[in-house]
This record gives sequence, structure tokens and C-alpha cells, in this order.
Amino acid sequence: MAVTFRENLRTKIVATIGPATAAPGMLESLLETGTDVCRLNFSHGERSWHEAALKRIRAWSAEHNRPVAVLGDLCGPKIRLNTVCGGQATINPGDQVRFARGEDECVSNRLTVTYRRFVDEVEVGHRVYIDDGLIRMLVIDRSDDELVCTCTVGGPLSTRKGVNLPDTRLSVPALTEKDHEDALWAVQNGFDFIALSFARRPSDLKQLRKLVDGHGDHTAIIVKIEKVEALEHIGELVEQSDGVMVARGDLGVEMDVWQVPLLQKGLTRRCRDAGKPVIIATQMLQSMISAPMPTRAEVSDVANAILDGVDAVMLSAETATGRYPSAAVEVMRRVAEVTEAYRTEATRGDVTVLSPIGDGCVSAIAEAAAKAAVHLGARAIAAWTTSGETVRMVARYRLPIPVIGLTNDERVYRRMNLLHGVVPMLADPPAGHGDLNTLMNEKLKAAGFVSRGDVIVLVDSTQPTVRGTTDTLRIHRVS
Ligand code: PEP
Repeated sequence: MAVTFRENLRTKIVATIGPATAAPGMLESLLETGTDVCRLNFSHGERSWHEAALKRIRAWSAEHNRPVAVLGDLCGPKIRLNTVCGGQATINPGDQVRFARGEDECVSNRLTVTYRRFVDEVEVGHRVYIDDGLIRMLVIDRSDDELVCTCTVGGPLSTRKGVNLPDTRLSVPALTEKDHEDALWAVQNGFDFIALSFARRPSDLKQLRKLVDGHGDHTAIIVKIEKVEALEHIGELVEQSDGVMVARGDLGVEMDVWQVPLLQKGLTRRCRDAGKPVIIATQMLQSMISAPMPTRAEVSDVANAILDGVDAVMLSAETATGRYPSAAVEVMRRVAEVTEAYRTEATRGDVTVLSPIGDGCVSAIAEAAAKAAVHLGARAIAAWTTSGETVRMVARYRLPIPVIGLTNDERVYRRMNLLHGVVPMLADPPAGHGDLNTLMNEKLKAAGFVSRGDVIVLVDSTQPTVRGTTDTLRIHRVS
């Protein structure tokens, strides 16, 4: 099997698939341009639409022999306005607005929402935000049947706009009925990741884990951080998930938006230390929804995330509904190329000091591999993995050389495509000492990636088919 080194880019690109990529060739162009992970957002589109997109992604991947992971993003318990009478209404600052029980149409001073217990759980003094916080209200009074609010920031209201409650602890279940159906469908269709929206506590994650594991092989769960409550349990959420998405859209409404950049940096570091992939999401190249080039500030945002060492940067509406989907991926790629080159120079020779993970055996070998690779000026580290763990442990060092993740498990192969600096590769388990050397010689030479005399650091196991047995570090000189 040939190996494709995607120009050695270490930062991965997640692109949301939507109507903008429906035309023949568009989705394929997005993949060709450098998309590593496709996100199918279950908040929009019919099941048949997602099914067709999934088929096209898998077909392209098989034809081009390139791993592409697919992430299904659950809607979660997002609260929305019910239908607005006449399609639109306007609320002005100072207006008194009532939230009533039931499903009546909304008019400007009397609104209803999709969450049944809204009137019971929101309290006097709580903030109610509509449409990503563009409209803001404060609850000033309540009765058994309604909440009375005063509008602090006004604007136009329209049907099904999202409602955020930064001060309220809701009893809404983590998974709606639709989430149950979508998660099961995703598992049955071999999705590589399922993203849990509006996670608040570890029990939310456990609920999804139970559902998913009860219906198939372990499907990786990405926890979306978009609620302040999630931050109170962040250690457990990172530890118990398979990765994190910093969902800045809702997060920037649920908390003061100016706190988000520092939070993003903290989460990036926490995930890196824990060996869990972290995705930075939302508005990264927002202006490219309607313009062929990004703003300077957007480019800086992407570059800063890359400098922080994130695993992946994500495009949402830019690729799902925007006018320039492939150009948006191209811009991310260009920013990554330039920024990674700078980072390589700035961190040359550094091996970050990281804490042991678990019993410390795998992380100790990963650290030794990182140090050996820097010491010897190695061309790559190649690591055999059955579950992906060994490769995650090596990837957390964020070295400027590729980590070749070898596995015989197709899902692990695709999932590794979200990891910083990892080039996934399918192979049979090494049969014995020296087998991995031969494999690397053959495959990497065939790919034109190494030449005679290059050093590769090898990490593998004396029992390569048994999970959790990584025990070997070797230095290989290409012959
Ligand atoms: C977000 O809120 O930033 C996000 C990624 O979630 P969604 O796109 O599902 O709103």
C-alpha cells in the first residue's frame, strides 16, 4: 500500500459538510484540498442527505487510499424559539417580554420555546439570550405560568432561533430522542467519532457511551465544550472522552466572549497533556462564507491555534453553506504550512516535559522515543498501535517530524487522522523483531519519504496484537 504524506502538515483540518458541497465534485475537491475529518452536523439535513455524503467520503477515501475520518455531531438539547408569527418580529431595548408555557406561536412580547420546563427552571435575575446573544433579556418576575423579562439588547426575532441561558442549570436530559436515533445510526454506519453537544457533566458522557457501546464497536466520543457547567467537570470530561471540541459558538454566548481565547489556550494545553485530541471550532474563517479571502484577524486566529499546538482547526458554515468551501480549506492549509514552519524553528530541539499517564509504561516509552528522535535528528517516529493509545502518547510531544501510526484496525487508522502530526498507515501486525524495520524500509522508501541512512525511531510491542503491551523502543537506520 502506498503512503501519502500530505505535505507533512501536522495540524489537521475538520470541514463541515453541507449543501455547499452537494454539487458533483465539490465534496471531493474539499477532500483533495486537504480535509482530514468530515463533520456531518445532525442539527441540519435529512438522514438520506447524510447517508449520501458518507458514501461519497468513503468512496473518495478508498479510491485515493487516504484516511478520512467522519464525525457525526449530535444536536443535543438546544433550546429554540417556536414559530414566530409572520416569520419575524422585533424586540426593542426596554420592552417587557413574557415567556409562556406551551407551543403557541411567538409574537414580539409573548414567546414560547421548545423546552417544556423552561418556565419552571429559569429564575428571576437570570439572563436569557436569543440568536447567539444578539438579543438579550433579564428575568425580572415570574409566576406559575410565565416568566417576565426586560429586554436589554433588542433586535429582530425569527422562527427557531437558539436560546441560551448562561445562569440556569437545566434538568434537560443530555440526549434527546433525536440524539438517540442519530447516535445509533452513526454507530451502525461506522462513523469514527460522535460529538456530544451541550455536555454538562461526566454522566452525560456516560449516557452516550452506554448507548454507543451497547450497539457496536467502541465509537470515539468527542465532548463539545460549550457550557459553563462543563468547565466545572473539565478534568473528568477530558479523561473520559476520546477528544474535545472547543465549541466557541455557544461557549461565547454562555460566557463572556472575551474569556474564550484564554479558555481555549487552557483547554488546548490540558488536552495535549492528557493525550486527547483537541479541535478548535467556529468562526475561524467566518468571512469566507461570502468572500474569497479571509480577514487578517481570522488568519491570526488560525495561526495562534496552530502555535498553541492544537490537533485540529475546524470549518463550519464556511464549508457547509459558504460560497468558497475549497478556498477555505486551502487558506487553512496555507496558514498551517507557514505557521508550522515557524514553530519548527522556534521549538527545534525542545522535548516538552509531560507527566506520566496511566501506569506510565506507554508514556515513558513515548517520551524516550521523542528524546531519541530529537537527539538523533530522526526523520520520523513510527509506532505500532492496536487501539491508538501508543500513537496518542507520542503525538502529545508535538514534534516537528511525522509520527507514523501503524495499525491493522481500519477504524483506529481513520481515527488517528485527527491527531497532531500523525500519518496513519494500515499494516499487518509485525511478526517479530525486525519486521517493523523491513516494513518501514519498504513503505517509506516507496513513498519517497526516506532514503538510505535516515534514522527512524520505532515504538512497538513484543505482543503486537494484544492491547496495552507497548514495550519496545528501537532505533532503525534505513538500509
Ligand atoms: C459551536 O457552538 O461552536 C459548535 C461547534 O456547535 P454547533 O455548530 O453545533 O452549534
